[in-house]
Amino acid sequence: RAGLRLMKGDRAALEENVRQRAVSVDLEKLYQLQSEYFGLNGHLQTLRQQRNINIHAQSKDQKSVLERAMYPLVSLLPNTSHPLSPVGGYENVKVIRTHGNKPVFDFPVRSHVDIAESLGLVDFSSAAKASGRRFYYLTGAAALLELALVQYAMHKACGKGFSPVITPDIVRTGVVEGCGFHPRGEATQVYALHHHHGHLSLSGTAEVPLAGMFIEKTLTVDQLPVRLVAFGRSYRAESGGAGRAVKGLYRVHQFSKVELFAVTETDEGDGGEGGVLDEMVALQEEICADLGLHYRVLEMPTGELGGPAHRKLDVEVWMPGRAEFGEVCSASDCGSFQSQRLGIRTVDRGERSYAHTLNATACAVPRTIIAILENHQMKDGSVVVPPVLHPYLPPDCHHIM
Ligand code: AMP
Repeated sequence: RAGLRLMKGDRAALEENVRQRAVSVDLEKLYQLQSEYFGLNGHLQTLRQQRNINIHAQSKDQKSVLERAMYPLVSLLPNTSHPLSPVGGYENVKVIRTHGNKPVFDFPVRSHVDIAESLGLVDFSSAAKASGRRFYYLTGAAALLELALVQYAMHKACGKGFSPVITPDIVRTGVVEGCGFHPRGEATQVYALHHHHGHLSLSGTAEVPLAGMFIEKTLTVDQLPVRLVAFGRSYRAESGGAGRAVKGLYRVHQFSKVELFAVTETDEGDGGEGGVLDEMVALQEEICADLGLHYRVLEMPTGELGGPAHRKLDVEVWMPGRAEFGEVCSASDCGSFQSQRLGIRTVDRGERSYAHTLNATACAVPRTIIAILENHQMKDGSVVVPPVLHPYLPPDCHHIM
């Protein structure tokens, strides 16, 4: 190549130079080869350009067709499971610990539906007319009880270092997907808003708008962990099957929830001992104990983890009217599953990695109301409200009769 550069100039001058240096070179042959070489190079360049055009066209068409075909399948792939998660369905759940005992009643126990209807605390029939099945009005003391539970749970979490947030409950459908839910799936839980062409959805949990606060953000490690507690309304289509507990407040389409959310370093929220997940579960337990409820903490099996969770712990409380434990809280470590989809990163001395996200229920109002009504019912039909809620209620709602 360096020699070829010498041929760039005037041919006559080169011939003269070769003669003067008494070097024997077949210049006729060399110039002929050079001309063939440049010709070939030009041809190759044309081929290369053509190839690029072809690659571009193919990548635009076939690649995007394949991507579109792969996307719905890839988006169904769940997170990895934590080694502590038992393999299998709900029957393989592992009870980690239990607090308290089943309350003993010296009168026939009533369900929350009976109690609430006789004390004028819910109106299902008006809700059925106004909104449909699985909706409810909370009336009288129950309306204030909801607000008291929300206030109490928000204050409790703030006292443990969680910063308070009120979320938008309508979110971009892409963010719902980024959190690992399937708004376009068959048995979807997500209500999409048709007049926004499905691009906006009603949030099923404040976890979605909370994760959405960090889209495409990079947090420095000294900012972590971020701990948030939000009040939001949750909307669920509850499309797949009626299930057992249709009547009452157990499975409804809309409810208030106080939700915990955290963004942590990669190795902090790894679902192991002593991390933010433990802090969240400890807070859930404190709330259940404060409310005088008999509860158990469960290590959820792989079949119950859903898509985004790497590890999940549930808290179930005893519900005397149902004569069984019912789930009131859930806590999930999602690892980097959500942050990879939403672009939530951390940077530590120049090194970037995906953050971890965790979420947990602080108080899901309707099921907590069920637990309070059924566990604290009296023989005379009244209900004694747990003292921790009294600061948030007028005196005539401390004992509902
Ligand atoms: P999840 O986000 O599905 O883990 O639910 C969090 C908590 O919300 C659960 O532990 C329940 O207490 C409550 N919850 C979930 N779905 C419903 C529903 N359809 N109706 C009433 N409460 C619900």
